[in-house]
Amino acid sequence: MEVNGKKFEQLAALVSEKLAKELQRPCETCQCETPDAATSSACIFASMEEAIETAYKAQKKFSVMTLEDRRRITDSIVSHLMTHVRELAQMGVDETGMGNVEDKVFKHKMILQKTPSVEMLKPEVFTGDHGVTLIEMSPFGVIGALTPSTNPSETIINNSIIMLAAGNSVVFCPHPGACKTSNRAVTLVNEAVAAAGGPEGLVVSIDNPTMDKSQIMFKHKKISMLCATGGPGVVQAVLSSGKKAIGAGAGNPPVLVDDTVDLNKAAKDIIDGCTFDNNLPCIAEKSVVVLDHVGDKLIEDMRRNGAYLLTDEETISRLTKMVLPDGETPSREFVGRSAVNILAKLNITAPPTTRVIIFEAQPEHPLVMNEQLMPVLPIVRVSDVHKGIDLCCEIEGGRRHSAICHSNDVNVLSEYGRRVQTTIFVKNGPSFAGSGAGGEGYTTATIAGPTGEGLVTAANFTRKRRCVMVDSFYIR
Ligand code: NAD
Repeated sequence: MEVNGKKFEQLAALVSEKLAKELQRPCETCQCETPDAATSSACIFASMEEAIETAYKAQKKFSVMTLEDRRRITDSIVSHLMTHVRELAQMGVDETGMGNVEDKVFKHKMILQKTPSVEMLKPEVFTGDHGVTLIEMSPFGVIGALTPSTNPSETIINNSIIMLAAGNSVVFCPHPGACKTSNRAVTLVNEAVAAAGGPEGLVVSIDNPTMDKSQIMFKHKKISMLCATGGPGVVQAVLSSGKKAIGAGAGNPPVLVDDTVDLNKAAKDIIDGCTFDNNLPCIAEKSVVVLDHVGDKLIEDMRRNGAYLLTDEETISRLTKMVLPDGETPSREFVGRSAVNILAKLNITAPPTTRVIIFEAQPEHPLVMNEQLMPVLPIVRVSDVHKGIDLCCEIEGGRRHSAICHSNDVNVLSEYGRRVQTTIFVKNGPSFAGSGAGGEGYTTATIAGPTGEGLVTAANFTRKRRCVMVDSFYIR
């Protein structure tokens, strides 16, 4: 295969050699005290302006490359990053203190295996007596992307694949609390791009990310589009920027359980979903609403599947104040921590097999109505399914994110799905089935409820352009 007149294998060998030398050299731009291979790279900048300028020049070169080139580059990201999955998973846990390594390994693999590339770019055509009209999908240019601490390297990898597949370059502004892991992923993505013959600087990032640096990105003329994956603050910020923006924000997914299902299976599914990566995923189960007369059985089945039941009101109140001090925002000290660790802070020694803390709550309880991002799962009883659906809609709170239902009654499934209007609605499975793990369909790290793109793909980073041939070119 030839790339820019050179044999691909020759080019890849040259680039690998150059990169190896680069990585041994101390970083000039990175302000880390001890530059190392994890952060030192030509793709990590101290200055946001420099990062944007580099990505802008790279995109100009990229724009003349073919769809086959884009495919080869995204395939290279998949194969190269697949060999660094455990390293990134471990780094994410070490740096943020959140989540667990095995689940992060799983998440990275799923992102690599199930993120679609150029195949999502489907042109449209109209033909008739007046000729042929094509709708083609062109890149925006340089995308500015903000990434979260809860899913750092996974988001960098997924966003790189989809933004590059669409023909763009990308400037990342990673979460300060996960900067090292995020920038390690950016560096690895660059190695893969270079090995596949892509231009240098297609995927760049900054060190020491700050609000001021993201503001520069929001206002910069050479950034054509923004994408924010994070909480409500960052979604609000990109939507106020005046640029085209995708906002993927917070969720608070409720689970409804009625009396038509195998309760033991429902309990297992709920606990598997809720405890995955210590409840960090925005799609993970955050509260349970159950029909009163099957509540006892569901709780018993949850206990058999690793749930630790709190019944003492005083302990439940201490837990609530500890993990949600202002009654709305979860304490960073407990986000993504294990149930055993959270219980230990309450001076409760739980068996090491404990996966989640459960307790019964009133509907208005702050841990029901707010997103806690930790394996603490309140359970609310209701007298009938209609009240249950009403309550689930209230808990979801118009975030348009995710909801889960365990029922074999098609009317309940339909009414709940229709009324809750979430981007993801999972029936009779763990929440992660909604992102493609154990359910059908592709995956993403960016679920855009507020701006409506859904589970974003390459197509969402393109501009539709119309090309019209008048009165000819049809072959009827
Ligand atoms: P966060 O919201 O604290 O930060 C996300 C990024 O935005 C970071 O880079 C941060 O520095 C930056 N940022 C935050 N506020 C900003 C502002 N006003 N201006 C400029 N930059 C700003 O993210 P987090 O706490 O790591 O992520 C957790 C949240 O993200 C949860 O609410 C979770 O549900 C949500 N999330 C959503 C998705 C999705 O696809 N919808 C995916 C992952 C996480």
